[in-house]
Amino acid sequence: MILQLQRQHIELLKQQTKNVHPIEACALLFGKFSKNEAVVEKIKIAQNRLRSATRFDVDPSTVATAITEAEIEGLNFIGLFHSHPAPATPSTVDLKYMRLWGDSLWLILSSTDSNFAAYQLINNKLKQATIKIK
Ligand SMILES: [Zn+2]
Repeated sequence: MILQLQRQHIELLKQQTKNVHPIEACALLFGKFSKNEAVVEKIKIAQNRLRSATRFDVDPSTVATAITEAEIEGLNFIGLFHSHPAPATPSTVDLKYMRLWGDSLWLILSSTDSNFAAYQLINNKLKQATIKIK
């Protein structure tokens, strides 16, 4: 799987992570989503309603509204972004929630080393996606 993002998306997510630090930042990713490639076209910043430095949760009504808006714009839901005060690998809690989000991509930014990484659960197996920035 390739996850393609624009330079401005990366800057936006880094900025949001700085803005809310030490709380985990989160956002929803929209664009074109096919079997082998996801192309991000829109990012919707969301509030972490847990206001936690180690956990995140987005209000389901925020998710529903953002998905409806994106559908009207002809965009698919691609996945979730959140930041970690640790390496950009899914936590055990993340893995639990990933199962509820089907084949959506999970993009993680480490606020300690500024690395991005993206993951997807396919048949219950964790796969790392390749991030392409253009
Ligand atoms: Zn996490």
